[in-house]
Amino acid sequence: MKTASPKKTELGLEEAPLQERVVVPSRMTAAVLYGSEDLRIEQIDVPALAVDEVLLRVRLALTDGTDLKVWKRGYHAKMIQPPAVFGHEVVGEIVAMGKRVDPRWRLGTRVIAANSAPCLRCYHCRRGQENLCDDLLFNNGAYAEYMRIPGRIARENMLEVPHGVDDHSAALVEPLACVLRGVHEMEVRTGDTTVVIGCGPVGLMFVRMLTRRGVRVIALARREAPLAVARKLGAAAAINVTETADVAGAVRALTDEGRGPDSVVEAAAVGSADVVLVVVEHSSLGYDPSRESQAFSV
Ligand SMILES: [Zn+2]
Repeated sequence: MKTASPKKTELGLEEAPLQERVVVPSRMTAAVLYGSEDLRIEQIDVPALAVDEVLLRVRLALTDGTDLKVWKRGYHAKMIQPPAVFGHEVVGEIVAMGKRVDPRWRLGTRVIAANSAPCLRCYHCRRGQENLCDDLLFNNGAYAEYMRIPGRIARENMLEVPHGVDDHSAALVEPLACVLRGVHEMEVRTGDTTVVIGCGPVGLMFVRMLTRRGVRVIALARREAPLAVARKLGAAAAINVTETADVAGAVRALTDEGRGPDSVVEAAAVGSADVVLVVVEHSSLGYDPSRESQAFSV
C-alpha cells in the first residue's frame, strides 16, 4: 500500500482514495454480439493486457445510433466483427495498467476512452484529418464489467474526467466531441443564423453548442417533444416540419430580409425532402454555398 498523502492527477485533482480501488477478478459478465439481433450475456475472461494497455472497470456505458444499427445488422465492417463484446461509449476507472503505460495515469482515475484512435502517420493524419485515417483503430467492449483500452487509444484518446462531471455526462463525450468538431469546422460567427435539421441527441447538442456561441438557431423536427427541448436549450425558433406546409419559406421568413440561414446542420439521420428543400432554397439566393453555407451530416 502507498502512503496516505494525496497525489495529484493530470488535472491537478486529488487522486481517488485507495479504498475505491478494486481487485480485478479473472472472469466477468459481458454482452457479446454474435450477429444480427443476437446479443448474449455471457461469463468470459477479463481481458489480458499488453504492456501499453489499460484496463477500465466500466462505470457506465451508453447505446448510440451506431450501436443500434450494428445490432440490427450484426456487424460493422470496420468497427466490430462478431463474436465480440459490444458497446463503445464508456466512462470507467483505471484498475490495471501495463508496464509501459504513461506514468501520468494512476489507478482509480476516472476516465473516458474514445472508441478509436488515428495512426498519426498516414496521408490524412498528416493533414490533420484524423477522422479519415487509413488505419483507424477501433475498440469495443464497453458492455462488460471490465474493458481493455488498446495502447494507441490510451495514448491518444483517453481523458481524465473532472470530479464535477458525473458519469452520465462523461459518457456522452464522444458524440459531444463530434458536435464540437462540426461547430469548429463551420466557423460560425456571433449573430449568424443556423438551421439545425433533426432534434435527436446530436441535433440538440448542436442547438446548445451553437446558441452558447451566440448563434441564432432555427430547429426543425417532426415531433413536438424534442422541439420543446430545443427551445429550452436556446433555439430562437422551432418548427414542426409535419405541420408546416412551406418549411423553407418559414425558415426564410425568420431570417434577415428573407435571405435564409448562414449555415445548415443536417442531424436528421435520414435523408429527407425537408433537408433538400432548405438547402436548395438557400443556395438559390445567389450565395456561394462553399463560403456561406455548410451542411454537416452527423
Ligand atoms: Zn492515419
